Amino acid sequence: MTILTKQARDLWKTDVLVVGSGSAGATAAITAAREGASVALVERYGFMGGTSTMVLDTFYGFYTPGDPPRKVVGGIPDLVVDALMERKVALIRPNTYGAGNGVTYDPEVLKIVWEQLAHEAGVKLLYHTLVVDVIKEADKITGVLAINKREALKIEADVIIDASGDADVAAHAGVPFESAEDGPVQSLTTTFRMLNVDTDVARAVKKDKLHALMAEATASGKYDLPRKEGSVHITPFEGVMATNMTRVAEIDPTDPVQLTSAEIEGRRQAEVYAAFLKDFVPGYEKSVLADLSTQIGVRESRRIFGEYRLTKKDVLAARSFEDAIAQCGAPIEDHHSGGDTIWEYLPEGETYGIPYRCLKPQRVEGLLVVGRCLSADHDAHASVRSMGQCMAMGQAAGASAALSVKSGVTPRNLSVTELRNRLMKLGAVVD
Ligand SMILES: Cc1cc2nc3c(=O)[nH]c(=O)nc-3n(C[C@H](O)[C@H](O)[C@H](O)COP(=O)(O)OP(=O)(O)OC[C@H]3O[C@@H](n4cnc5c(N)ncnc54)[C@H](O)[C@@H]3O)c2cc1C
Repeated sequence: MTILTKQARDLWKTDVLVVGSGSAGATAAITAAREGASVALVERYGFMGGTSTMVLDTFYGFYTPGDPPRKVVGGIPDLVVDALMERKVALIRPNTYGAGNGVTYDPEVLKIVWEQLAHEAGVKLLYHTLVVDVIKEADKITGVLAINKREALKIEADVIIDASGDADVAAHAGVPFESAEDGPVQSLTTTFRMLNVDTDVARAVKKDKLHALMAEATASGKYDLPRKEGSVHITPFEGVMATNMTRVAEIDPTDPVQLTSAEIEGRRQAEVYAAFLKDFVPGYEKSVLADLSTQIGVRESRRIFGEYRLTKKDVLAARSFEDAIAQCGAPIEDHHSGGDTIWEYLPEGETYGIPYRCLKPQRVEGLLVVGRCLSADHDAHASVRSMGQCMAMGQAAGASAALSVKSGVTPRNLSVTELRNRLMKLGAVVD
């Protein structure tokens, strides 16, 4: 990276730099700016939201499974849901696999909502720019190097929040991590929507019936359906059903060569699943395939090693932590390489804490890592990765970064009591 360093132009000096604008990064940037820090947000695509706007349409994790559901995410994430509800493009929808109620929304409008909240908070946003390396002084990260079509840039910050999903910043900075090279990571999925569906008829087809029809289609030999229990769900719009059906397994999402073949395979499968729906499932007779996800959905890539590593045992025991900055009641949902999905549940209605230590990487100062690349083992990750929790982690990192800058300490040394108190004032659920 020496050549890039020499040529790079200084773009910004900012209190807080957030890399990646997915659920975690968007919430981190909005929170830190609302808390008074100067904030820059760098995103490689031309819109905010990451997986929340380019792959999906349902926030899980806001509510615990079971009856009655308990709301366990609050604060800035509520502003996002409220803005969608006010526009009448969101609805509460029970999950058919027991993951609790979801908030199903229009992802196109969510792009606008994220931008408006970021703009109102005063976040400086730079799209179409990829962070490719870091600047360090001894153990402290002081900035990043980024490139776009026009130039190479240096952006300096007191605190950097890695919300890239893939822990790009942490990996460049020398934080230890686990990835597809060390063990299995979850499969990838290209989502799509079906338009022109008779939704009244289609929603009457329950999960078991759909799976029986999939088995029938597979047995006919004409439909190659790798995932045998994929799902479809209603959207806020009449005639539109959304899917989570395709499965591309054994891919390292940080390898562009493997990711290229995954993109092609995901779209190929989408066409086959769409044909299956049209040919076999009541309500889809006149439907058309639309809105393939902007890119294939990546569930898991790098997971960093932080001061603490959340484990499967913590999740299933609904463990409490003194430094919890958020709560999660979502089951372990492992989309492994076979035809089914493995679900493991917490005791009904209970939650576990997400420790602040899981956002604090080993070895590197001045950095917080949030969202799906936090410090967790493979199984714990399969629970804690829901977008509700990614937003809650983002909120915690944003608040921590702003407080750290204000009080002149590193995020590692920030008083966790002070952070938790501030989060509670913002409306977060920490215990
Ligand atoms: C197919 C699929 C289905 C799922 N279903 C659900 C569901 O129904 N409900 C739910 O709650 N969760 C679901 N999840 C999980 C959830 O969507 C993700 O865990 C969550 O969205 C991750 O958010 P994030 O902010 O950590 O990362 P991401 O959303 O991946 O965001 C990372 C952002 O960083 C940007 N970026 C990456 N690298 C760089 C770089 N070097 N420079 C600049 N920008 C960069 C990316 O473009 C992106 O915008 C699903 C996931 C998948 C893949």
